[in-house]
Amino acid sequence: MFVEIVDALRCPRAHEESWLVLAARRTEDRHVLEGTLGCPVCRAEYAIHEGIADFSDPLVSGHATASPVRTLPPADHLAAMLNLGDALGFAVLIGAWGTSAEALIESVDAPPLLLVDPPAGVAMGHGLSGIRASATLPLATGAARAVATDAVDPARVADAARVDARWRTDGRAGGIARAGRSARAGARRRGVGR
Ligand SMILES: [Zn+2]
Repeated sequence: MFVEIVDALRCPRAHEESWLVLAARRTEDRHVLEGTLGCPVCRAEYAIHEGIADFSDPLVSGHATASPVRTLPPADHLAAMLNLGDALGFAVLIGAWGTSAEALIESVDAPPLLLVDPPAGVAMGHGLSGIRASATLPLATGAARAVATDAVDPARVADAARVDARWRTDGRAGGIARAGRSARAGARRRGVGR
């Protein structure tokens, strides 16, 4: 878990939006590999182990994701799709998209990447952070400059759009509108990616 992404994490439980307090036990190159995230509102604690923070609900087993055997585009295509030409902010790769993370971080001048429910065998650190999550992503609205998701669960797809700074959710209309190229400005406004 990259320390700058911790600022964008929020407690996923049903209460007002809250930051999380980080207690790091082992950190390498600004990545927390072992530690705990605590919610000051509901006192929930989320463990970080091997760089992956666990927000999953132990009562819910597994997530409905698209078939992992489908072909993913090459890393440079994914970088272009997500407009990842610079190191500002961070991008989110959900499920099978995490398979491309290592190639992506080595190719272009990519921003830090946050993998949600990362595939087995992807090592965290060196620009890669991981979380396990329920349908509600533990992230602030518009926190990520881009989100790629393989989710088929409508609740998670909707929440992925909420987190993606390229989209703006209009609560009253109940629709999702394209917000244009605001990811970079949003990242600056929130002070991430410096
Ligand atoms: Zn909480």
